[in-house]
Amino acid sequence: MVEELLSAVKAVPDPELPHVTIGDLGMVRRVELEGDHAAVVIAPTFLGCPATEQIRADVEDVVRGVGFVAVVDFEMAPAWSTDDITEAGRAKLAAAGIAPPAMVGDGPVPIDLPVACPHCGSRQTRLVAGFGATACKALHHCHGCRQPFEAFKELRR
Ligand SMILES: [Zn+2]
Repeated sequence: MVEELLSAVKAVPDPELPHVTIGDLGMVRRVELEGDHAAVVIAPTFLGCPATEQIRADVEDVVRGVGFVAVVDFEMAPAWSTDDITEAGRAKLAAAGIAPPAMVGDGPVPIDLPVACPHCGSRQTRLVAGFGATACKALHHCHGCRQPFEAFKELRR
């Protein structure tokens, strides 16, 4: 039952990135059942992201659909980072034309490579604006195929 609930919760689409689910983004930490209550622990992505309350409402709906009452908790620590995005999530972002974030890892020296273009793969790109359509994305321009594209911003822990 917990497994079923967990996959249902993970399948909730991200309100701002409808191509990926909150499971793809690595936001679902755990689900615990107690009687008819399901405690769902979610790692919020970008602080102050207006999507957070939408995610809470969507998770409550899904859990209710499976027959439980949801108690959604947002866990801030350990903080979510873009490294938590799954392989499947990265592939879906790229397929939607959004450059997935680079893996930051725990290395002490951040390496700022230009973002690879999701259309043609070129690294001859430049940052146009720090904010794209949503706060978690930035707008880039590719010199290779001369197309603009959005990139998911890296978020370090
Ligand atoms: Zn390109």
